[in-house]
Amino acid sequence: MTAAPPAPEIDYDALNARFEQADPREIVRWAVETFGEGLSVGASFGGASGMAILHMVAQLKPDVHVFVLDTDYLFEETHENMRQSIPALGLQNVNVYKSKLTHEEQAAQYGSALWMRDPDLCCELRKIEPNRRALEGKTAWVSGLRRDQSEGRRDTPIVAWNQKFGVVKLNPLANWDEKQTWAYIAANKIPYNVMLDQGYASIGCYNCTLPGVQGRAGRWAGFDKEECGLHT
Ligand code: SF4
Repeated sequence: MTAAPPAPEIDYDALNARFEQADPREIVRWAVETFGEGLSVGASFGGASGMAILHMVAQLKPDVHVFVLDTDYLFEETHENMRQSIPALGLQNVNVYKSKLTHEEQAAQYGSALWMRDPDLCCELRKIEPNRRALEGKTAWVSGLRRDQSEGRRDTPIVAWNQKFGVVKLNPLANWDEKQTWAYIAANKIPYNVMLDQGYASIGCYNCTLPGVQGRAGRWAGFDKEECGLHT
């Protein structure tokens, strides 16, 4: 594997000003050309915007490093979407990262159903730590966050230094809304998670996902929590 190039010096204010009116595909192209082998795409195979991002990157660099965090609590529909989408999009380098603890080991160490008592710790063990491993040796991380997904995402920058994971973080769809995202998916015949047609607006672990509510309100019901900690 080719070594990732060092992250370039970036004037984030200037770049965000330039990208604020840009088409997401232009931002993705800049990311592919700037970071090359250092670029990594985080994919959940749950939400619509992540599927649009995968399509945009695959058009330019089908061998881009894509990573999926399999918490062991993903819906079967999410696995099915992975099985169908990866060949359909022509992605050649999709990697699955799991927690170092099996479900049983986590229950033995922290008690059963940790997500019902301490979802932050559960997300740390099953998402944050594997995300850190996924980005080892990488310089930039692309995700599908949009500002319209929740109040907490309203100020999402298009490009920023991410201190938590030590990479440049790009959110090319920050400025798109749900309608634009679905129009792109329809126009390009991109596969997506069938649960999005069954009343789910945001799809993560089956322990912490409810249908029938807008945005990210269906996640971690009963807790003052809207993010797993990957993007905060
Ligand atoms: S979303 Fe829920 S089950 Fe999944 S890692 Fe976080 S707390 Fe655990």
